Amino acid sequence: MQNFLYTSDVFKGSRYGEGHPLDMDRVWPSVELVQMMGWIEEKQIVKHGPATIEELIKFHDLDYVLALKEAEEKQTLPHEIKIKYNIGIGNNPIFSEVFSRPATAAKASISAIEKIAANKAKRILNISGGTHHGRKSQAYGFCFLNDCVLSILKAIELGFQNILYVDIDAHHCDGVQDVFKDNENVNIVSIHEKKRWPFTGLIEDCKIKNILNFPVSEHFTDQDMNFLINDFIIPFANKKKPELLIIQAGADMLHGDPQSRISLSNNAYWKAIYDLLSLCDKSLILGGGGYNPYLTAKAWAGNWVLLNNKIELLDMDMNKECHQFLKSLRWSNSRVKNGIPSEWISSWRDEKKKNKISDEIISLIREIKSIKKYEI
Ligand SMILES: [Zn+2]
Repeated sequence: MQNFLYTSDVFKGSRYGEGHPLDMDRVWPSVELVQMMGWIEEKQIVKHGPATIEELIKFHDLDYVLALKEAEEKQTLPHEIKIKYNIGIGNNPIFSEVFSRPATAAKASISAIEKIAANKAKRILNISGGTHHGRKSQAYGFCFLNDCVLSILKAIELGFQNILYVDIDAHHCDGVQDVFKDNENVNIVSIHEKKRWPFTGLIEDCKIKNILNFPVSEHFTDQDMNFLINDFIIPFANKKKPELLIIQAGADMLHGDPQSRISLSNNAYWKAIYDLLSLCDKSLILGGGGYNPYLTAKAWAGNWVLLNNKIELLDMDMNKECHQFLKSLRWSNSRVKNGIPSEWISSWRDEKKKNKISDEIISLIREIKSIKKYEI
């Protein structure tokens, strides 16, 4: 059975506007890198259009979806509608593809679940997905729709009774937790930076049966990540015997990302995803956060390799074409005012870091074990 990478032309050139953290390209560059390395066959790349209104209102309110559509068509909304739906306010601006871009990401996640459920694919990568903050009737945290919620709802609709959702974005998956807490068909695991927006994802939420939250500090290391995944999350998840695994693979915990203080190397990021994939044959990997275009494009391109069980390809040298391509990506950020650091655009892997497992992680695990005493 084949694996697939879902994308769309809508992401090419789509930006949230000047000064916004998403005023840069990351989805289509990831696909370009995969192709430039010769890691994919053309027939494995699937392009989608946007989800229908009918598909979106499986979670979102109809009036909200129609307002989002109107925002794209008119490039503005009446003031009171903007306030009501949080569209065109703060970090959720009205831009050219404000409906079609998130609706296409949502369609890809929904279609991926349909294809996996029909046994027409084993694993799918939807780089454009992972919009885990989206609310039923409000835009939130750069997310206008919530493809994570829509894909889980689709999976339940198609008969999956035991879904594992793991979120390694630096920000807590508040939009997903709110919808599925106490849902017996879903287990939600999130590793995220503590005391960071949206300030949810507290350890106390582990009292909820299907929630496992790991709020970690800025000192979270590569070794901590490996320890959490292999000594805690995988044994926990194995007992649940998931039928479907959805990984939100936000890349904003990587060293050099401007939206978190955590400094993981991509070695730890990729190992975490690779190890998690061992949990379940049927898997969907999404994108998510990731606000350094060079690091994010590399991370998500690498996820395609992991999904195909070919982690050794990430030890290859980066070819000249990829290097030149990464170098050509524009990013208006002070981190590149003196040029792009060569390690971001010259090799696949970051330098391997040798830290040790922190006392903080040991005590975090101890605390969670004491909360979940009947389950672990
Ligand atoms: Zn994030």
